[in-house]
Amino acid sequence: MKKFFRTLAFFLIFTIFFTSCKKNVTGSFQGKAKGHNGDVVIDVDIENSKIKNVSLKESVETEDVGAIAINKLIEKVNSSDFNLDIVTGATYSSEAFISAFADALKKAGLNYKNYLKKDVQITKRDEKKEMDVDVVVVGSGGAGLISAIKAKENGKKVVVLEKLPIIGGNTLISGAEYAAPQNWLQDKENIKDSVELFEKDVEKAGGNKELIKVLATNALDGAKWLRDDVGVEWMDHLMFFGGHSVKRSLIPKGQSGKELINKLSDKCSKLGIDILTETNCYELIFEDNKVKGVKANIKTGQLTVNAKSVILATGGFGANKKMLYENDKEIDDKILSTNQPGSTGDGIIMAQKIGADVVDMDKIQLYPICDVQTGKLLYTADTRLTTGAILVNKQGNRFVEELDTRRKISMAIKEQQDSIAYQIWDEDSMQKSKVLQDHKIEYDNLIENKKMIKANSIEEIADFFDLDKENLKKTIEKFNKDSENGKDTLFNLRRLGFKIEKAPFYCLKAVPAVHHTMGGLKINKEAKVLNTKAQEIDGLFAAGEVTGGIHGNNRLGSVSIADITVFGIIAGTNASK
Ligand code: ADP
Repeated sequence: MKKFFRTLAFFLIFTIFFTSCKKNVTGSFQGKAKGHNGDVVIDVDIENSKIKNVSLKESVETEDVGAIAINKLIEKVNSSDFNLDIVTGATYSSEAFISAFADALKKAGLNYKNYLKKDVQITKRDEKKEMDVDVVVVGSGGAGLISAIKAKENGKKVVVLEKLPIIGGNTLISGAEYAAPQNWLQDKENIKDSVELFEKDVEKAGGNKELIKVLATNALDGAKWLRDDVGVEWMDHLMFFGGHSVKRSLIPKGQSGKELINKLSDKCSKLGIDILTETNCYELIFEDNKVKGVKANIKTGQLTVNAKSVILATGGFGANKKMLYENDKEIDDKILSTNQPGSTGDGIIMAQKIGADVVDMDKIQLYPICDVQTGKLLYTADTRLTTGAILVNKQGNRFVEELDTRRKISMAIKEQQDSIAYQIWDEDSMQKSKVLQDHKIEYDNLIENKKMIKANSIEEIADFFDLDKENLKKTIEKFNKDSENGKDTLFNLRRLGFKIEKAPFYCLKAVPAVHHTMGGLKINKEAKVLNTKAQEIDGLFAAGEVTGGIHGNNRLGSVSIADITVFGIIAGTNASK
């Protein structure tokens, strides 16, 4: 018997050995893997066991970060660089590509790991580079690109440093709506607005009045500059965000920061502004009481940029857990983040090291309804805000007023079992909303990944998410009765006028996430960074989410794009004087 097993083992090893080093493979092989939003399918052309070409056949990785990451990895393999790392900020899409690649090689009969080992290139990291410019901008989100354009237009030599492989920051993944009082669409719709009214709306959150005045006074000019000089296309209707007295928010084409970032990046190319990606700035050069440049890590070593002025446009710290937990004791690992991974507060940390002051660091905005896995803000759930939806917990009970502030709802969700909320609405609410029209891909993805259900009955929802069925039915009966009587007897929901009555019913599970950090570097109205003695730091400017003080304890929707534009323009202009 022993002999039999020994012979069998021998035979198996022999077979495996011969199949793994069998042949000279030639042909086209398809690889497939699951990405963030669906399947990623690639074609791998192989000739004599060498990869000739890899192309993307199919992908619904429509999120910019995902699509860019896949293209970057394809570029790498096509130039025989098989050192395939996860592209920061696009983990799922990168993993999907690498798995699809492995799948194709497996189908070709090639051992993925053995194959890669031959070609892995080890990057040397001992290079020391140096460059001299007039203005160095750190961060390539909206504030960074805008300030770079302004400085370049003033005749200066400008470089932008970006730590991620892709540009755009949080600006890219935002809706990029822009609050502008007295704008051209308000004129058409006969909406009466003024700089003072906008100022008052923003001031309610307790921010710095001097900075708010600058913001309000220049917001319309900033929007016009984006339209006329940069070529940003605005849609033909406005949005009405909470906390604003009137409808005043412009919407870029596609309601996406992509329109803004694409047009700003085109403008940068036209002007000949260098944007260096994967360049992670870690230190300000500060000598004789003046900022004289920055130091950055690059793939091959280190880069020193000597400059007359530095503009920090590194965004907020919404992706830096340590900074979040330190500044807001209510935030812990039950709260995810809607932010892209570059928002780690680097600009704040670097400037503090040379004596800069900060303000409002404990003021952190949360968003209550986000993806349970990725923290992505869910637009599919906008029915809660537009046409009506309720939130329940695992026990099938409502637990908060669904239109309370973002923070109150977020904290209430955090206290529920598993820190998860289930948002429920009906077909009537769905049809009246624009969800299926505007956010179909997100909706399909949620359904496919079982984070959402379209159900024929309330019982089906309860079964699907394992909610207390009897309680849930009672909750909905009670809510419908209250809605009919025009008074929510449980939480006094401020806007009724809907029921959960008409099938099919929709239910989505969600968690809260950090959305915006209101605090940051203290600046004055010239966008100069102040030190802890309230003096200007020579040579240092800042704009955008890296700064604090404007939004007080609550940034209103669509005000941050106005903020990054107005202060981006000011920082770029003043840094080039
Ligand atoms: P804002 O809205 O203020 O323009 P964004 O979040 O849109 O801010 O953009 C900030 C950008 O700065 C992001 O792309 C981020 O990756 C980049 N960034 C953050 N820290 C650094 C750093 N240390 N070096 C280079 N770029 C950075």
